[in-house]
Amino acid sequence: MGRVVYDSALGGSCPRCRKTLAKCRCAEQIAANTRPAGDGIVRIRREVRNGKPLTVVLGLPCTADELRKVAAQLKQACGSGGTAKDGVIEIQGDHRERVAATLRDAGHEIRFAGG
Ligand SMILES: [Zn+2]
Repeated sequence: MGRVVYDSALGGSCPRCRKTLAKCRCAEQIAANTRPAGDGIVRIRREVRNGKPLTVVLGLPCTADELRKVAAQLKQACGSGGTAKDGVIEIQGDHRERVAATLRDAGHEIRFAGG
């Protein structure tokens, strides 16, 4: 006895927060606080969506919160709108040079990718 048994006694609850799996938000929290393991290089590329140019930033080693802050900086630097989602920042308009300069100032290694 005294042996720890991991079995169905947990009955579908999360071992981390002990809430039922339906209420567990651990996966989201972990995702929000995890920096994606990239190769340390931030890639910038231009896309066209609905006929309008878009500057797309990929590979930032940021948590979701940090990504939003970087996006806010870039939007201010470019004087443009944009979004931060799923590790990707999109800035409206072709602002590759401005985005690259801003991120380089922040210490990132930049590479222009694709079109
Ligand atoms: Zn949990």
